Amino acid sequence: MSASPTTTFDDNNTDTSTLTNPTLVLNCGSSSIKYALISDDNATRITGLAENLGLDTARIKHTTLNGEKLEISIPGGRHKLALQKILELLEQYHFIAVGHRVVHGGREYSEAVRVDEHVLDEVKRLKVLAPLHNPANALGIEAVQAIYPDMPQVVVFDTAFHQTMPPVAFRYPLPKALYEEHKIRRYGFHGTSHAYVSERATEITDASGTHGWLTAHLGNGCSATAVYDGKSLDTSMGLTPLEGLMMGTRSGDVDPSLHIHLKRQLDMSLEDIDTMLNKESGLLGISGLSNDLRTIEQAASEGHKDAELAIEMFCYRVGKYLASLSCALPELTGIVFTGGIGENSVTTRTRILEVMRHFGIKVDVDKNAKLVGGNEGSFHSSDSSLELWVIPTDEEGRIAQETREALNLV
Ligand code: ADP
Repeated sequence: MSASPTTTFDDNNTDTSTLTNPTLVLNCGSSSIKYALISDDNATRITGLAENLGLDTARIKHTTLNGEKLEISIPGGRHKLALQKILELLEQYHFIAVGHRVVHGGREYSEAVRVDEHVLDEVKRLKVLAPLHNPANALGIEAVQAIYPDMPQVVVFDTAFHQTMPPVAFRYPLPKALYEEHKIRRYGFHGTSHAYVSERATEITDASGTHGWLTAHLGNGCSATAVYDGKSLDTSMGLTPLEGLMMGTRSGDVDPSLHIHLKRQLDMSLEDIDTMLNKESGLLGISGLSNDLRTIEQAASEGHKDAELAIEMFCYRVGKYLASLSCALPELTGIVFTGGIGENSVTTRTRILEVMRHFGIKVDVDKNAKLVGGNEGSFHSSDSSLELWVIPTDEEGRIAQETREALNLV
């Protein structure tokens, strides 16, 4: 596919906008593919989602530039078919590069890299560390290669931003050989999100000097990071995205002896325990209702005791983690909330900050209430010891930017 400096298009004969030198961002998950076609100034986008892959209900939900929604059914379709359809839908816009979100980059990658044979092999090899995600990411790269062999492709690793963590934060207190010979260490995830929101906070704050941020990415997956002078110094997720905060269906931290205990007491297999910790725990496990905070908040407001406990535990664990991560920072400027929960749940933000009651944080209640539905802004009052921000994350935009940088297109 050839580069075209400015592609003017007529989207279903209804849109005459321009999408200049677009980059295609692909985020291939285990049963879904999120995609976004993004102009070189990050301002204009076409977005979509292929979901339920492998099931009868597999479909692609596509939103055109003018906001029109299309749904394409691909019953039983898997990644390969979905990717073919997505590429067909977007072909007319002459994208010039593809950036892939790849979950695990292991120890080798501290920044986005252009795909070559070695990089693709590494993405596949690291499936030992991310069995659900890395194989899907590799499929995405190969699908593009098959149709556009000359298309420059870049991989942006979720782990890369955290490669600045010092050993004191990334090592586990385990025998040395496990680290040296088997790469057992803490890697951290959600890197593009933590990088984006901390950079954005630094851009928009009035505070002078070097900034230290605690960033809380609270979505279905949840993690918190300590960022100083643009570098990740510690984070809540570890070898896998299970460590750390309580999440939608993931437990976060539990006693490492839980596995042996459950094996002995209930004769559970390691696989069953892993499934339980990843898919049946967290907000879902405690509430017994849902992994979706909206459903749980509704139930709690109607007096559902387990829903109330799920929210209380969630907030307590986030607050406790943020407090402990502050130890990684030479200076602390403030806290940044992002992700579906962080961007929308006013009460969750309030309750997390109440857990941190010894920090001298003061919330401006009116400002906090207005920060929902994609609004960006601060909500600390003038006498607060720390700044408080809500910054909607933009992982796709950040991946597009890193892709252009890795290809020297900027
Ligand atoms: P993912 O990690 O899958 O990208 P999101 O960042 O979209 O997930 O976050 C999903 C979470 O955000 C869900 O728990 C959902 O209930 C929560 N959420 C979204 N909107 C709201 C809202 N208005 N109030 C409370 N929680 C919300």
